[in-house]
Amino acid sequence: MNLKATSRKNAIHVMVAYTGGCNGCDIEIVNAVLSPRYDVEQYRVLLTWNPREADVLIVSGVVAWQMVEPLKKIYESIPEPKGVVAVGACAVNGNVYKNLVGDIGQNEEIWAPVDTVIPVDVKVPGCAPRPEDVIAGVVKALPKILEAP
Ligand code: SF4
Repeated sequence: MNLKATSRKNAIHVMVAYTGGCNGCDIEIVNAVLSPRYDVEQYRVLLTWNPREADVLIVSGVVAWQMVEPLKKIYESIPEPKGVVAVGACAVNGNVYKNLVGDIGQNEEIWAPVDTVIPVDVKVPGCAPRPEDVIAGVVKALPKILEAP
């Protein structure tokens, strides 16, 4: 077993990318999930801002054009195997921005949903989703990561 696999048995690192929503999802993801009420760090689910250290990438919001290339760069910088969780209706289907992008796709300013930019493994709907659903989404992404050789 390599060093990365060994460390993943002890802790999962989650990176969050805010790509263009209203920040409602971000409050649930970062403030609520890490708050004493949910306290995911007690289960060794840790937040990181370093993509090279991350196992799971959470993306919230549609993707503003300024974030298209940075999001691709973050995704490519995360070592394999990795999981991507799209959190919130904006990331999952475009939500209130749909009238700008059509059912699916992109215009010059907004790309939605997130899987038009990078591959997504798990989708967590809701506006904003509950913290429990965000945690469940991360857990759903784990087998791909933990069962890798
Ligand atoms: S899904 Fe709702 S709460 Fe989340 S970023 Fe979009 S509008 Fe805001």
